[in-house]
Amino acid sequence: MSTAQDTLETLRQGNAAFIHEVASSGGVISIPTPDHGVVPPQKPVAVVLSCADSRVPPEVIFKQGCGKLFVHRVAGHVLDTHMSESIEFGCAGLGAKLVIVLGHRDCGAIKATLGYPKGNTEDFPYLETVRESIRPAVESCQQDYDSASDKNEVINVAVDQHVLATVKEVREVSAGWGSDVEVVGAVFDISSGEAVFLNE
Ligand SMILES: [Zn+2]
Repeated sequence: MSTAQDTLETLRQGNAAFIHEVASSGGVISIPTPDHGVVPPQKPVAVVLSCADSRVPPEVIFKQGCGKLFVHRVAGHVLDTHMSESIEFGCAGLGAKLVIVLGHRDCGAIKATLGYPKGNTEDFPYLETVRESIRPAVESCQQDYDSASDKNEVINVAVDQHVLATVKEVREVSAGWGSDVEVVGAVFDISSGEAVFLNE
């Protein structure tokens, strides 16, 4: 069985292939699928906890076929009990050794958390509990966000902070699973196609 580091390298290469193929094929990429009529065993190499943003499909950006990634998606990649239990199943039950928390540039959940703070549901009646869950990780950015004329830079910092906070949360819950799991954070740049793995 491959190690978490082997899998990480495979996914880095998959992302590089995605970027290359998008640039060289006019925006069309190929992804491997099982043979017709075959039901392959479920042995994912990695678990992904990703923002639900429609521009961030994990299997596509890492160029992985059916059966490779055990993917969980919700706006702002917030961890709750259901997600946690399912991620545990992907690791302890199905054998994945790597968990990737995948955020992205231009994240609407982060923008809404900073843009409509203090439970403002009148101007933005969506994602109320998601915003509450994100808030502690980005609270330190609020003042900069409020005063910045160009808010993108602050949003980028907040995205990174929230990814790293979620990585920490997954590590804390995974400590009790009795399986050896590595947890890493990545941020997908929608315009370049690059998934940048965050240093800690
Ligand atoms: Zn997002």
